[in-house]
Amino acid sequence: MTNDPDVIVVGASVAGCTAAALFARAGARVLLLEKHSNIETYKVLCTHTLQPCAVPVIDRLGLRPRLEAAGAVPHVSNYWTQWGWISPKAAPGGTLPHGFNLRRKILDPMLRELAAQTPGVELWLGQSVTGLISEDDRIVGVRTRTTGGQEASLRARLVVGADGRDSTVAQLSGVPVREAPNNRFAYFAYFQDLQPGDHPPTQIWFLNPDGAYCMPNDNGISVLIVAPEKTPKHLAAFREDVPGAFHQYVRELPDAPPIDDVPLVSKYIGMNDMPLRSRGAFAPGLALIGDAALSTDPMWGIGCAWGMQSAAWLVDALGPAVLGEGDLDGGLAAYAGRHQVEVGGYQRIFESFATARPLNALERLMFSASARDEATARHAYLFGSRLISVPEFIAPPAIARAVLAQDDLAVDTVLENLREVEFLNVDEISRLVHAGPSLVDVSEPAGHAADA
Ligand SMILES: Cc1cc2nc3c(=O)[nH]c(=O)nc-3n(C[C@H](O)[C@H](O)[C@H](O)COP(=O)(O)OP(=O)(O)OC[C@H]3O[C@@H](n4cnc5c(N)ncnc54)[C@H](O)[C@@H]3O)c2cc1C
Repeated sequence: MTNDPDVIVVGASVAGCTAAALFARAGARVLLLEKHSNIETYKVLCTHTLQPCAVPVIDRLGLRPRLEAAGAVPHVSNYWTQWGWISPKAAPGGTLPHGFNLRRKILDPMLRELAAQTPGVELWLGQSVTGLISEDDRIVGVRTRTTGGQEASLRARLVVGADGRDSTVAQLSGVPVREAPNNRFAYFAYFQDLQPGDHPPTQIWFLNPDGAYCMPNDNGISVLIVAPEKTPKHLAAFREDVPGAFHQYVRELPDAPPIDDVPLVSKYIGMNDMPLRSRGAFAPGLALIGDAALSTDPMWGIGCAWGMQSAAWLVDALGPAVLGEGDLDGGLAAYAGRHQVEVGGYQRIFESFATARPLNALERLMFSASARDEATARHAYLFGSRLISVPEFIAPPAIARAVLAQDDLAVDTVLENLREVEFLNVDEISRLVHAGPSLVDVSEPAGHAADA
């Protein structure tokens, strides 16, 4: 690049490649810096689900045909709960939105290639960002070091930190960070032909408080994850014998996948410490996207989708300001505001859930009702797919419908229990419930379309 680029994006993974491609399509000259020198590098600590909420960005990038050609499996989650399996189905005349499962080994190089092929993007591999350049309290560039030890200073109108959960850019910028502990640990491994048949669902076990997952991926490979609470018993079992503890844990799952009958095709990969981190998403001249802005509990399989979405929110919020035609910092503040609105509510819920506390009254209600009622199951699925927001999820008509659908407890007991949950409008829910089923006997709870 002969002149300074408009944008420097630090980190060529899910968020950074998306941002680079979309900024360039908007006319910007983009320098995409990646510390690894090999374009085939991929993130090992990931279980590969692209949630349905990522699909609009996938389509905007033109990525869908590449995903499908690479064997991505359509992703639809089924949830096991103590009330039974929740297997969401499309509304009559509608379709059930799905995401994609494709191993990062294939996805990451594909995204890097897509970004590098976009006119206006230059991808420089083997470039670690080691410092930020500030002038008059704004970020105006980065300092880099190559794998060979060569140092350089690069300047741009905008620096984007897309360098992951331990973001160097975020740390150097000094933006505020909030961290919440995670009281679960996780191990995962890959198995061949564990889930036969066309398009098997992703299975998620909500074991209250543990979790487990079985996710079909490309080439008949499934990834199996166990996420036990950090109890002394669980920690000791996995410390002593990872394969033994892993297999025993899986064998004891309800409707356990037959892991003893199929080949294991990987090592066991474990993580003991997975705190949730939320940062301010901008400073003058700087934006953070993806995990650099917010890294959540891996249990929810959402970080890649939010990486793509946050990149798109940033590009849309800045518009021509990234080309020097408008108020860049105003656009950055608008981006940070949208980021907070889109993901802040979920993150608060995830922080609470990561304590491994027992299910609260709302969770018990929605699981028990979803196991019995198709519309509530769909509502829960759209929430799990991050296609509806927290306020839409807890809209009184949807909760009232669930109260009437469950048959675990007396209606008034459920309503009374719901008062323990912050932000629920229990009086309105109660009014709807007592007004009679006809009021809430709608084909869909408020807040989502049949084929959203
Ligand atoms: C166990 C586990 C399972 C998960 N499963 C899922 C899942 O199923 N679905 C899902 O959506 N999410 C999942 N996640 C989360 C997901 O992996 C992350 O949210 C996602 O990778 C974030 O993308 P990103 O582009 O923001 O950052 P990353 O993918 O972490 O990429 C950061 C990039 O920046 C580069 N970089 C870092 N520092 C520098 C530097 N100083 N200079 C230059 N380059 C740098 C890195 O090399 C890397 O390429 C999981 C996470 C874990 C830990």
